[in-house]
Amino acid sequence: MHSAAPASAAKLVIDPTTGLLLAAPQVLSPHRDARPSGVLPDLIVVHGISLPPGEFGGPWIDRLFCGELPAAAHPSFAAIAPLRVSAHALIRRDGAIIQYVPFGERAWHAGQSSYAGRSACNDFSVGIELEGTDERPYEDAQYTALAALITALCAAYPSLSRERIAGHSDIAPGRKSDPGAAFDWPRLRALLGAQGGGGTQREDD
Ligand SMILES: [Zn+2]
Repeated sequence: MHSAAPASAAKLVIDPTTGLLLAAPQVLSPHRDARPSGVLPDLIVVHGISLPPGEFGGPWIDRLFCGELPAAAHPSFAAIAPLRVSAHALIRRDGAIIQYVPFGERAWHAGQSSYAGRSACNDFSVGIELEGTDERPYEDAQYTALAALITALCAAYPSLSRERIAGHSDIAPGRKSDPGAAFDWPRLRALLGAQGGGGTQREDD
């Protein structure tokens, strides 16, 4: 083995029996439950999040997804602290991945949503958050980690496909804008060697 790849680009492995990403820190969220009987994940949803909005780092995303966000810690927190939300994983600005929900279980990330005429996307999707905003370019390390995570997901769950990736804004148009115009869909597709995926409507013109 003579790989010169940096650690952040190292091959990721998911154990499909536990749904856990090996060697990644896990902060398991209570905001999760079982997928409907017989339903396999077949969609990957890309999100963007920052808490407080526009600020990076800090413990607040972990706290929100665990139902422990202190409402008084920032003026923007009071409205979201009661929410019972989560995602399967978060990719920090430096490319570090934190897992909140086993990939075989249902995370509560999509809300009211629809993909290809099918509603309730939480039932059949994996939700990945990128720490960021709609406007600020995402970091190189985040694209590298996202592509590695998607590759690992497709290996662990053959029902998933690198051709079936959507942004939150694609499945909840008018209600959600993330991951925003800053997210470079052609770059993700190039990293994955994929054709379809989210943001296609914005690429048509
Ligand atoms: Zn979102």
